[in-house]
Amino acid sequence: LFARPIIFTKGCVSLADLPPMDRVEIAFAGRSNVGKSSLINALCGTSNLARTSNTPGRTQELNIFESQSENLRIVDMPGYGYAKAPEPKVKAWTKLVHQYLVGRATLRRVYVLVDSRHGPKDNDLSVMNELDKAAVSYQVVLTKADKPNSADVEKALAATRWSIAKRPASHPHVLLTSSEKGTGIKELRTEIAMLLAT
Ligand code: GDP
Repeated sequence: LFARPIIFTKGCVSLADLPPMDRVEIAFAGRSNVGKSSLINALCGTSNLARTSNTPGRTQELNIFESQSENLRIVDMPGYGYAKAPEPKVKAWTKLVHQYLVGRATLRRVYVLVDSRHGPKDNDLSVMNELDKAAVSYQVVLTKADKPNSADVEKALAATRWSIAKRPASHPHVLLTSSEKGTGIKELRTEIAMLLAT
């Protein structure tokens, strides 16, 4: 699946910009700076597909990537929770993200990225609530697992599992990843390949 290149197709600032619903889609969501670009790059085996940046909140579009070999589209959502972003912009992204998440029949799963140093924060829980309400499947992926010590990773895992266990719908198990060390990337690829196969 990831042996052939995944290419950047376009950045979308409105629903009208989105490509037709002709492929299986997976989306990546998370707070600004959670490590989303790094994870997408690690997943696709490239160093610069999704722009990795130290400036949080820079990705303001739905960035679309497409597989050259499979019927797969990857949607990189704008990072949320960036305090310095101007309010009208935040409102515009929130609306776009909401419209995309609840209205996209081809959206098979959302990967909700959560920093393994912190566990889920309020805005992560709000996104999960919204996805539950819209009956969209999602899987939580803890990022930067190389940063905290193993006791703190266990704490974050437990807190994340607990916040998911309380939910009305059932969700796939929590994945633990590090783009830096390559941890969990193979497992994430397998999960995506399984989605495509079903
Ligand atoms: P995004 O804003 O969510 O796209 O986050 P980025 O991918 O740009 O990453 C934000 C910062 O975290 C950058 O400085 C990355 O180098 C760093 N980072 C991302 N993933 C990892 C990881 O797995 N381990 C470590 N130690 N740092 C990471």
